[in-house]
Amino acid sequence: MDQVLIVGGGPVGFTVALILAKRGIPFTLLEGGDKIFDDPRAGTIHPPTLEMFATIGVVDTMLERGITVPNYQYRDRKTGVVADFDLGAIAADTPYPFRLMLEQHNLCYILRDMLKDLGQHEALMEHRVVAVEQDAAGVTAHVESPAGKKTFRGSHIIGCDGGRSQVRKSMNVDFEGFTYPERFLVLSTRHDFRQAGYAYTNYIADPDEWCALFKVPGPDNKGMWRAVFAAAASAPPEVIFEEASVQDRLRRFLDKGSPYEVVHRNLYDVHQRVATRYRDGRMLIAGDAAHINNPLGGMGMNFGLHDAFNLTDKLARVLLDGASDDLFDLYDRQRRTVAQEYLQRQTIENKKNIELKDEAQRAAFHAELRGIAADPVKLRAYLLRVAMIEGVRRAASIV
Ligand SMILES: Cc1cc2nc3c(=O)[nH]c(=O)nc-3n(C[C@H](O)[C@H](O)[C@H](O)COP(=O)(O)OP(=O)(O)OC[C@H]3O[C@@H](n4cnc5c(N)ncnc54)[C@H](O)[C@@H]3O)c2cc1C
Repeated sequence: MDQVLIVGGGPVGFTVALILAKRGIPFTLLEGGDKIFDDPRAGTIHPPTLEMFATIGVVDTMLERGITVPNYQYRDRKTGVVADFDLGAIAADTPYPFRLMLEQHNLCYILRDMLKDLGQHEALMEHRVVAVEQDAAGVTAHVESPAGKKTFRGSHIIGCDGGRSQVRKSMNVDFEGFTYPERFLVLSTRHDFRQAGYAYTNYIADPDEWCALFKVPGPDNKGMWRAVFAAAASAPPEVIFEEASVQDRLRRFLDKGSPYEVVHRNLYDVHQRVATRYRDGRMLIAGDAAHINNPLGGMGMNFGLHDAFNLTDKLARVLLDGASDDLFDLYDRQRRTVAQEYLQRQTIENKKNIELKDEAQRAAFHAELRGIAADPVKLRAYLLRVAMIEGVRRAASIV
C-alpha cells in the first residue's frame, strides 16, 4: 500500500497519525517546527472528543494527566455568578459528563509517545512543506529540511498544518470569513482563583473588559491559571505585555492585594474562517487548516479532532476496504456543514454575548442563562450544544 502524507504535527496531525498507525496504514508526518509547539492555546477538551479518544485507547492517559471540570460558571464582572452549569445534566448522553483541561501540547506528547511503539511510519520534524502537487496516481510534497530540499510521494495528503495551511493554499480553495480587529491576550499565573469562588472554567462578561479564566495542569502539574482578555488592535505587543499594564489588568479583574506572578504573556490574532472545500482530489484538509474561530467556548481544536476521526475512518475504508473515494466528498459535506452551521455560529455568539454593551440586552441574556441553568430539560439541550455533542450528531446525520 502507498503511504499517506500528513502535514503538521499539532494535535490534529498527531491524532490522524495515531489512528492510521493503529489501522496499519503507512504514513510520513512532515512537521515544519523543530519541536511540538507549547505556547498556551487549547486547554479544554469536550465530552465527544473524549469518547472518540476512548476508541483508540488514549482516554485513560488523558484523564490521568488532565483536570476534570464538572461545572463551569458564567459571571458578570460587576455582579458575580450569573449561572453555574453542571455537566451532570448530560450524564445519560455521554460517559464523560465534564470538560477535561489538558493543554494541547500535552495531548500531542501523549499521542507522539503512543505512536513510537507502532511501525510503518516516520514523523519528521524540521520538514516544512512548501508546495504540493497531485496527478492521477498520487501526490508529491516538496519539502525544505536542514538536509536541503526533498520530495515525498504518497497516495493522499492530509493538511493538518494550521490556519496558514500550505496544503490548503495548494488546493487553491478560499478561506472565507473575517478577522477581528482586536487580539486575544493570554496571561498565565499560578495564583489560585478557587479561593475567590471561581470554578475551574469561567466566562466573565463585561461591556468594557470581559475575561475568560481556566485552570490547566501547567508544566509541573501543580496547576496554572490562564486569563484571556481582548487587547486593543492599535497597541503594540510590548505595550500590552508591560508589567504595569498586565498587573493593572489582573488587579482590575481581581484585586488580591499584591502583584500577580505572571508566568506567560501571549497575544493571538483571532479569525472566523472556513475553507470553501475540504477536498480536492487526493488532497484533504482538517483542523485549523480547514476552519478557524475565536477560542471562547474552547471548540477549535476539538472540532479539528472530530475532523480527524471522521476523515481517517473514511480513508481506512477507501484504502483498506476498496470503498469509493466519493467518501471524501461526504467528509467535506459533513464536516464543512457543521463548521459553518455550528462552530462558527456558536463561537461568534459566545464572543458577542460576553461583550454585550447594551444594558437591556445583557440583562435579558443573563436572565436566559439563569433560566437554562435552573431547568433540567433546557440545561440538557443547552449543554448538548455547547459540549459539542449536537455538532457530532448533526454531522453523522448528513449523507
Ligand atoms: C488562546 C487560544 C486558546 C484556545 N483554546 C482552545 C480550547 O480551549 N479548546 C479548543 O478546542 N481549541 C482552542 N483553541 C484553538 C486551538 O489552539 C487550535 O484549533 C488547534 O491548535 C488546531 O490544531 P491543528 O493541529 O489543526 O493546528 P496547529 O495546532 O496550528 O498545528 C499545525 C502544525 O502544522 C505545522 N505546520 C504549519 N505549516 C507547515 C508546513 N508548511 N509544513 C509542515 N508543517 C507545518 C505547524 O508547525 C504546527 O505544528 C485555542 C486557540 C487559541 C489561540
